[in-house]
Amino acid sequence: RLKVKAGIILPRYIRVNTLKTSVKDVIDHFKKEGFLQQHITSPSYESYISTVRSLAKNHFLLDIHIPELLAFGAGTDLHDHVLYKSGEIIFQDKASCIPGYVLAPPPGSEVMDCCAAPGNKTSQLAAMMQNKGKLHAFDKDPKRTATMVTMLLRSGVLCASCENIDFLRCDPESPKYKDVEYILVDPSCSGSGIVNRLNDMTDDAMSTAASRLDGLGRIQLSILVHAMTFPKVKKLVYSTCSVHQRENESVVNRALQLTGDHFKLIMVMKELPSRGKELSEPSNGFFQAKKCLRMDPVSDLTNGFFVAMFEKRKHVTDSVK
Ligand code: SAM
Repeated sequence: RLKVKAGIILPRYIRVNTLKTSVKDVIDHFKKEGFLQQHITSPSYESYISTVRSLAKNHFLLDIHIPELLAFGAGTDLHDHVLYKSGEIIFQDKASCIPGYVLAPPPGSEVMDCCAAPGNKTSQLAAMMQNKGKLHAFDKDPKRTATMVTMLLRSGVLCASCENIDFLRCDPESPKYKDVEYILVDPSCSGSGIVNRLNDMTDDAMSTAASRLDGLGRIQLSILVHAMTFPKVKKLVYSTCSVHQRENESVVNRALQLTGDHFKLIMVMKELPSRGKELSEPSNGFFQAKKCLRMDPVSDLTNGFFVAMFEKRKHVTDSVK
């Protein structure tokens, strides 16, 4: 059962929206306003974490892993800040930046964000693509899709087409998607890694009930496996903000089984220490959970998160050409 970690306070992370500004301009702007930039004293992860942990209100640090990310001391309120209102900065937890960062679609590529609303990762993908190429952003919830459209407009995203559809009904054989090479799968999950929820709950029976997690796991698996059937996909990232193996390692393990040897797991950011947890009984007997990344509120100062990255094997890519 999930141990409730009361009293965790995370820094306020902001991602610089490079479609509208640069990291340097944003840092200069904050410094002119009296915010104080801090620096790590040694390149080790421990030193980085201790600097982030000790950030005071209105002090900030340029992240050492995600180049467009700044961490501000807890209690820094930027909701009314001019850079937030203009879409030049976006509130996005560090862990939630990692799926887009490792998918890394180059400018000009064709990309699919299967469960996209409210669009934080979509706008990050568009920034990595420098607004060049094509980004299909799907969500089955009409209200959330509308919020995403507004958010992407404010963020200066021009390369995305948003559709309010169930991704499972999206036809992999359609000529519309024949060139999609990069796919992000960030489906609905229990949300059990979100720190505010951890703090609020004493016994989160709802989010941990095995039957509920199994139900979520089945839907997550069907979305992930569907994404794997798009003919030209060569790189695919799966992420959740859940701490439960049933939504994470088990889903990845099963997806690898169901797709034969078409995909292999790729190590996600080996420089980060919190790794996927081995399943007690991996049903295929061999599953490299360590290649997956877990982010942990206590040791990484982010929301609890899980990221797995798949690459299509070369012989399969060649045969669909
Ligand atoms: N990627 C988003 C971001 O970074 O802003 C967050 C996505 S949220 C975790 C999951 C989203 O998946 C929800 O908006 C939900 O409506 C959507 N969703 C769930 N099942 C879906 C499906 N079958 N097709 C399309 N969207 C789906």
